[in-house]
Amino acid sequence: MAENLLAQLLEALAKGSIRVVDLTQPLNAATPVIQLPAEFGQSRPFRLEEISRYDERGPAWYWNNFSCGEHTGTHFDAPVHWVTGKDYPGNAADSIPPKRFLAPACVIDVSAKAGEDPDFLLTRAHVETWELQYGRIEAGSWVLMRTGWSRKSAPDFLNIQNDGAHVPGPHPELIPFLAKERDVIGFGSEAVGTDAGQAFRFDPPFPCHHGMHGSNKFGLASLTNLEELPPKGAMVIAAPLKIVNGSGSPCRVLALVENG
Ligand code: MN
Repeated sequence: MAENLLAQLLEALAKGSIRVVDLTQPLNAATPVIQLPAEFGQSRPFRLEEISRYDERGPAWYWNNFSCGEHTGTHFDAPVHWVTGKDYPGNAADSIPPKRFLAPACVIDVSAKAGEDPDFLLTRAHVETWELQYGRIEAGSWVLMRTGWSRKSAPDFLNIQNDGAHVPGPHPELIPFLAKERDVIGFGSEAVGTDAGQAFRFDPPFPCHHGMHGSNKFGLASLTNLEELPPKGAMVIAAPLKIVNGSGSPCRVLALVENG
Protein backbone atom coordinates (compact mmCIF):
# COMPACT_ATOMS: atom_id res chain seq x y z
CA MET A 1 0.00 0.00 0.00
CA ALA A 2 1.21 3.53 -0.79
CA GLU A 3 2.71 5.40 2.11
CA ASN A 4 1.12 8.80 2.04
CA LEU A 5 -2.56 9.53 2.41
CA LEU A 6 -3.14 11.08 -1.00
CA ALA A 7 -1.34 8.23 -2.75
CA GLN A 8 -3.56 5.78 -0.81
CA LEU A 9 -6.65 7.69 -1.89
CA LEU A 10 -5.58 7.69 -5.54
CA GLU A 11 -4.81 3.98 -5.35
CA ALA A 12 -8.24 3.28 -3.86
CA LEU A 13 -9.89 5.32 -6.62
CA ALA A 14 -7.91 3.48 -9.29
CA LYS A 15 -8.84 0.08 -7.82
CA GLY A 16 -12.47 1.07 -7.31
CA SER A 17 -12.47 0.50 -3.56
CA ILE A 18 -13.52 4.15 -3.38
CA ARG A 19 -16.20 5.15 -5.93
CA VAL A 20 -17.06 8.58 -7.26
CA VAL A 21 -20.82 9.18 -7.28
CA ASP A 22 -22.13 12.06 -9.36
CA LEU A 23 -24.83 13.92 -7.41
CA THR A 24 -25.40 16.35 -10.29
CA GLN A 25 -28.37 16.75 -12.64
CA PRO A 26 -27.73 17.43 -16.35
CA LEU A 27 -27.76 21.14 -17.15
CA ASN A 28 -29.62 22.24 -20.28
CA ALA A 29 -32.41 24.54 -21.47
CA ALA A 30 -34.98 22.17 -19.97
CA THR A 31 -33.47 22.30 -16.46
CA PRO A 32 -36.30 23.38 -14.12
CA VAL A 33 -35.81 26.79 -12.54
CA ILE A 34 -37.50 28.04 -9.39
CA GLN A 35 -40.46 30.35 -10.10
CA LEU A 36 -41.23 33.24 -7.80
CA PRO A 37 -44.44 35.29 -7.66
CA ALA A 38 -44.61 37.80 -10.55
CA GLU A 39 -43.76 40.84 -8.39
CA PHE A 40 -40.24 39.51 -7.76
CA GLY A 41 -37.19 39.34 -10.03
CA GLN A 42 -36.93 36.10 -11.96
CA SER A 43 -34.06 33.73 -12.66
CA ARG A 44 -33.49 32.92 -16.32
CA PRO A 45 -33.27 29.36 -17.59
CA PHE A 46 -29.98 27.88 -18.71
CA ARG A 47 -29.06 28.87 -22.27
CA LEU A 48 -26.34 27.47 -24.50
CA GLU A 49 -25.32 29.39 -27.60
CA GLU A 50 -22.86 27.84 -30.01
CA ILE A 51 -19.84 29.99 -30.90
CA SER A 52 -18.34 27.57 -33.42
CA ARG A 53 -18.29 23.85 -34.17
CA TYR A 54 -15.42 22.94 -36.52
CA ASP A 55 -16.92 25.25 -39.12
CA GLU A 56 -16.30 28.64 -40.71
CA ARG A 57 -16.75 30.27 -37.29
CA GLY A 58 -13.86 28.18 -35.96
CA PRO A 59 -12.56 25.39 -38.17
CA ALA A 60 -10.79 23.30 -35.52
CA TRP A 61 -12.73 24.10 -32.37
CA TYR A 62 -16.10 23.72 -30.70
CA TRP A 63 -17.27 25.99 -27.90
CA ASN A 64 -20.35 27.71 -26.50
CA ASN A 65 -21.46 30.75 -24.59
CA PHE A 66 -23.75 29.87 -21.74
CA SER A 67 -25.91 31.91 -19.41
CA CYS A 68 -28.12 31.13 -16.45
CA GLY A 69 -29.08 32.28 -12.99
CA GLU A 70 -26.66 31.40 -10.20
CA HIS A 71 -29.32 29.12 -8.70
CA THR A 72 -29.91 26.85 -11.69
CA GLY A 73 -29.85 23.08 -11.73
CA THR A 74 -27.65 21.33 -9.19
CA HIS A 75 -26.21 24.31 -7.36
CA PHE A 76 -24.60 25.71 -4.25
CA ASP A 77 -26.21 28.38 -2.02
CA ALA A 78 -23.67 30.65 -0.32
CA PRO A 79 -24.57 32.46 2.94
CA VAL A 80 -24.71 35.84 1.14
CA HIS A 81 -27.70 34.48 -0.83
CA TRP A 82 -29.98 35.38 2.09
CA VAL A 83 -30.34 38.67 3.95
CA THR A 84 -29.65 36.83 7.21
CA GLY A 85 -26.19 35.79 5.94
CA LYS A 86 -25.17 38.99 4.20
CA ASP A 87 -22.70 40.27 6.80
CA TYR A 88 -20.49 37.25 7.41
CA PRO A 89 -16.92 37.51 6.16
CA GLY A 90 -16.13 34.82 3.59
CA ASN A 91 -19.82 34.40 2.75
CA ALA A 92 -19.75 34.56 -1.07
CA ALA A 93 -18.86 32.06 -3.80
CA ASP A 94 -15.36 33.51 -4.21
CA SER A 95 -14.56 34.13 -0.54
CA ILE A 96 -15.67 30.91 1.18
CA PRO A 97 -12.52 29.13 2.41
CA PRO A 98 -12.04 26.29 -0.09
CA LYS A 99 -11.61 23.58 2.53
CA ARG A 100 -15.31 24.02 3.28
CA PHE A 101 -16.04 22.56 -0.14
CA LEU A 102 -15.14 19.07 1.12
CA ALA A 103 -17.26 17.64 3.90
CA PRO A 104 -18.80 14.40 5.17
CA ALA A 105 -22.42 13.65 4.39
CA CYS A 106 -25.33 12.31 6.43
CA VAL A 107 -28.05 11.04 4.10
CA ILE A 108 -31.52 10.82 5.58
CA ASP A 109 -33.81 8.60 3.54
CA VAL A 110 -37.42 9.75 3.65
CA SER A 111 -38.20 8.70 0.09
CA ALA A 112 -41.10 6.45 1.10
CA LYS A 113 -42.87 9.23 3.04
CA ALA A 114 -42.08 11.91 0.45
CA GLY A 115 -43.40 9.61 -2.26
CA GLU A 116 -46.78 9.58 -0.50
CA ASP A 117 -46.88 13.25 0.48
CA PRO A 118 -45.37 16.01 -1.71
CA ASP A 119 -45.60 18.38 1.28
CA PHE A 120 -43.59 16.05 3.50
CA LEU A 121 -41.43 17.94 6.02
CA LEU A 122 -38.33 16.52 7.63
CA THR A 123 -38.60 17.13 11.38
CA ARG A 124 -36.21 17.13 14.30
CA ALA A 125 -37.90 13.91 15.47
CA HIS A 126 -37.11 12.20 12.15
CA VAL A 127 -33.46 13.26 12.44
CA GLU A 128 -33.19 12.15 16.07
CA THR A 129 -34.62 8.75 15.10
CA TRP A 130 -32.03 8.55 12.30
CA GLU A 131 -29.30 9.39 14.84
CA LEU A 132 -30.41 6.51 17.11
CA GLN A 133 -29.67 4.17 14.22
CA TYR A 134 -26.61 5.74 12.61
CA GLY A 135 -25.07 7.90 15.33
CA ARG A 136 -24.96 11.59 15.98
CA ILE A 137 -24.53 13.98 13.07
CA GLU A 138 -20.97 15.25 13.40
CA ALA A 139 -20.18 18.95 13.26
CA GLY A 140 -19.27 20.07 9.76
CA SER A 141 -21.42 17.45 8.01
CA TRP A 142 -23.83 17.99 5.17
CA VAL A 143 -27.36 16.79 5.91
CA LEU A 144 -28.78 15.53 2.62
CA MET A 145 -32.51 14.84 2.45
CA ARG A 146 -33.17 11.84 0.22
CA THR A 147 -36.70 12.06 -1.14
CA GLY A 148 -36.49 10.43 -4.58
CA TRP A 149 -37.64 13.80 -5.94
CA SER A 150 -34.82 13.91 -8.48
CA ARG A 151 -36.54 11.11 -10.43
CA LYS A 152 -39.55 13.28 -11.24
CA SER A 153 -40.03 14.76 -14.70
CA ALA A 154 -40.25 18.52 -15.23
CA PRO A 155 -43.83 19.52 -14.26
CA ASP A 156 -43.99 17.08 -11.36
CA PHE A 157 -40.51 18.15 -10.19
CA LEU A 158 -41.63 21.76 -9.63
CA ASN A 159 -45.20 20.58 -8.84
CA ILE A 160 -46.72 24.06 -9.02
CA GLN A 161 -50.41 24.20 -8.10
CA ASN A 162 -52.79 27.16 -7.75
CA ASP A 163 -51.58 27.74 -4.20
CA GLY A 164 -47.86 27.45 -4.96
CA ALA A 165 -45.36 24.64 -5.24
CA HIS A 166 -45.73 21.37 -3.35
CA VAL A 167 -42.36 19.75 -2.81
CA PRO A 168 -40.80 18.28 0.34
CA GLY A 169 -38.30 20.12 2.51
CA PRO A 170 -37.18 20.69 6.09
CA HIS A 171 -39.58 21.62 8.88
CA PRO A 172 -38.88 25.10 10.34
CA GLU A 173 -38.03 23.59 13.77
CA LEU A 174 -35.36 21.36 12.21
CA ILE A 175 -33.14 24.15 10.96
CA PRO A 176 -32.03 25.72 14.28
CA PHE A 177 -31.41 22.19 15.58
CA LEU A 178 -29.12 21.34 12.65
CA ALA A 179 -27.41 24.72 12.51
CA LYS A 180 -26.88 25.32 16.23
CA GLU A 181 -27.06 21.98 18.05
CA ARG A 182 -25.36 19.92 15.34
CA ASP A 183 -23.28 22.67 13.68
CA VAL A 184 -23.74 21.12 10.21
CA ILE A 185 -22.09 22.70 7.19
CA GLY A 186 -25.36 22.88 5.29
CA PHE A 187 -28.54 21.23 4.08
CA GLY A 188 -29.03 19.55 0.71
CA SER A 189 -32.19 18.61 -1.15
CA GLU A 190 -33.19 16.79 -4.32
CA ALA A 191 -35.78 19.49 -5.03
CA VAL A 192 -35.31 22.76 -6.94
CA GLY A 193 -34.40 24.60 -3.72
CA THR A 194 -33.50 23.71 -0.15
CA ASP A 195 -36.84 24.84 1.28
CA ALA A 196 -40.19 23.11 0.90
CA GLY A 197 -42.57 24.27 -1.83
CA GLN A 198 -44.92 25.85 0.70
CA ALA A 199 -42.12 27.40 2.77
CA PHE A 200 -43.18 30.95 1.89
CA ARG A 201 -46.04 30.36 4.37
CA PHE A 202 -43.75 29.20 7.18
CA ASP A 203 -42.53 31.22 10.16
CA PRO A 204 -39.93 32.39 9.31
CA PRO A 205 -40.60 32.18 5.57
CA PHE A 206 -38.05 29.96 3.79
CA PRO A 207 -36.68 28.71 7.13
CA CYS A 208 -33.81 26.75 5.59
CA HIS A 209 -32.47 29.78 3.75
CA HIS A 210 -33.19 32.03 6.74
CA GLY A 211 -31.58 29.80 9.35
CA MET A 212 -28.79 28.07 7.45
CA HIS A 213 -27.44 31.19 5.79
CA GLY A 214 -28.15 33.13 8.99
CA SER A 215 -25.66 30.73 10.62
CA ASN A 216 -23.08 31.12 7.79
CA LYS A 217 -23.98 27.70 6.40
CA PHE A 218 -24.63 26.44 2.90
CA GLY A 219 -27.28 24.84 0.74
CA LEU A 220 -27.24 22.33 -2.09
CA ALA A 221 -30.25 21.97 -4.37
CA SER A 222 -31.33 19.64 -7.19
CA LEU A 223 -29.12 16.81 -6.00
CA THR A 224 -29.56 13.34 -7.49
CA ASN A 225 -28.30 9.78 -6.97
CA LEU A 226 -28.50 10.11 -3.18
CA GLU A 227 -29.61 6.45 -3.05
CA GLU A 228 -26.04 5.52 -4.00
CA LEU A 229 -24.70 7.01 -0.78
CA PRO A 230 -24.56 5.29 2.61
CA PRO A 231 -26.42 6.98 5.50
CA LYS A 232 -23.01 8.01 6.82
CA GLY A 233 -19.45 7.81 5.54
CA ALA A 234 -19.52 9.53 2.13
CA MET A 235 -17.48 12.66 1.45
CA VAL A 236 -19.08 15.40 -0.64
CA ILE A 237 -17.11 17.70 -2.89
CA ALA A 238 -19.22 20.73 -3.81
CA ALA A 239 -17.39 23.82 -5.03
CA PRO A 240 -19.21 26.74 -6.67
CA LEU A 241 -17.64 28.73 -9.49
CA LYS A 242 -15.45 31.52 -8.13
CA ILE A 243 -17.90 34.26 -9.10
CA VAL A 244 -16.80 37.43 -7.33
CA ASN A 245 -19.52 38.26 -4.79
CA GLY A 246 -21.54 35.37 -6.23
CA SER A 247 -24.51 34.12 -4.20
CA GLY A 248 -23.91 30.58 -5.44
CA SER A 249 -23.50 28.79 -8.72
CA PRO A 250 -24.32 25.64 -10.59
CA CYS A 251 -21.70 23.09 -9.64
CA ARG A 252 -20.66 19.52 -10.22
CA VAL A 253 -21.35 17.86 -6.90
CA LEU A 254 -19.44 14.64 -6.34
CA ALA A 255 -19.36 12.15 -3.49
CA LEU A 256 -16.58 9.72 -2.60
CA VAL A 257 -17.96 6.45 -1.26
CA GLU A 258 -15.95 3.60 0.19
CA ASN A 259 -17.10 0.18 -1.00
CA GLY A 260 -18.11 -1.72 2.10
MN1 MN B 1 -30.41 28.28 -4.47
